[in-house]
Amino acid sequence: MRKMGLTSWIFIGIILGVFSGWLIGEPLLVVSQPMGTVFLRLLKMVIVPLVFSSIVTGVAGIGSTGRLGRLGGKTMLYYLTTSLLAILTGLMIVNIVKPGVGAQLGLQTPPESIATQGTGIGDLLLRMIPENPLAAAAEGRMLQLIFFAILFGVFITRVPRKFGQPLESFVNGLFEVMMQMTRFIIYLTPFGAFGLVGSIVARTGFAPFVPLGKYALCVVAALLIHACITLPLLLRLIGKINPLKQLKAMSPALMTAFSTASSSATLPLTMECIEDRAGVSNKTSSFVLPLGATVNMDGTALYECVAVIFIAQYYSSQGQVLELSMVQQGVVVLTALMASIGAAGIPLAGLVMMSVVLDAVGLPLEGVGLILAVDQILDMGRTTVNVWSDSCGTSIIASSEGETELKILAGDRS
Ligand code: ASP
Repeated sequence: MRKMGLTSWIFIGIILGVFSGWLIGEPLLVVSQPMGTVFLRLLKMVIVPLVFSSIVTGVAGIGSTGRLGRLGGKTMLYYLTTSLLAILTGLMIVNIVKPGVGAQLGLQTPPESIATQGTGIGDLLLRMIPENPLAAAAEGRMLQLIFFAILFGVFITRVPRKFGQPLESFVNGLFEVMMQMTRFIIYLTPFGAFGLVGSIVARTGFAPFVPLGKYALCVVAALLIHACITLPLLLRLIGKINPLKQLKAMSPALMTAFSTASSSATLPLTMECIEDRAGVSNKTSSFVLPLGATVNMDGTALYECVAVIFIAQYYSSQGQVLELSMVQQGVVVLTALMASIGAAGIPLAGLVMMSVVLDAVGLPLEGVGLILAVDQILDMGRTTVNVWSDSCGTSIIASSEGETELKILAGDRS
């Protein structure tokens, strides 16, 4: 199945799910429920090794290029700042629109722990530190696992090469295998989509689609604000670059990102556009872009945050849990950031990572099934924003390194 092929199949799965749920009703659950459950379990299965290896590979990659110094510092600063700005934009919009409040989503699994977790900031920090990293991995405590993975990645680069190197290649290998496995599971998404969407419609009819539409609009609005206001402002103010020229230079890559929903598949084109059309040197782009394609995902980060708060709003308005406190929203922001760093640059990776964020605030994974119904189009949008942010970062960093060819972008040359 090629990428666009997969997209069409998922779409077909969703449509078939909707129609069968509608026509057959409750009896469909005999088939659709197990299909949805198997798909969600498969997603859960890959999450721990995928997140661990992805984060260690990314962090060690930044550290071991030997260029960590100034360029690495600027790159990290850019990645973190823009991802956070994106998440905050999403957070603001979803809190204003409140698409999940009063929604009839028909989710059945009761949330476990959201109301019982401590709410202090000290508590949050403490909860991030695993007493035993293996137990954290075994029990799927993602925040703790991520905390350990980041440290592990950093310290791999601090030990003598002969010790660090084998570990790094082992984790790189693990990452490649997990990516391959995830791709395989993603090929099963059409069945998962049929099972999950079919079950929702069979149980609750079409009521969930109105709030789902509202949720999707929140994501789209936040993506647009980030891509059309925040990033252009950064380009203009920090990089002294004309955003329209940057957009023109990057348009082939952005269109590819939209149609493939994969930052990694778009990477060769992103590099070509940024070097040949925007005038960034290979020295800068070869450092910033490959990392950015997996580590810097503003669109994904924003989407994780909006989706999880949407699901939380649903549960709290059902009276099943308390409303998310400020600190719990802080946990969502932080985990959304981590999840976007951990997400691979392939279609639907953001959906896979959502369990990390849901888990951190104690919400059941079942919500993912619901979100899946509208995830195709959102994936295309967020991938475009991911690639756009990578390209803006590369140009800003190149400009701060004094690269003169960028004048093309600043409009000094035609
Ligand atoms: N498809 C996105 C990307 O490749 C990741 C995601 O699913 O959010 O950038």
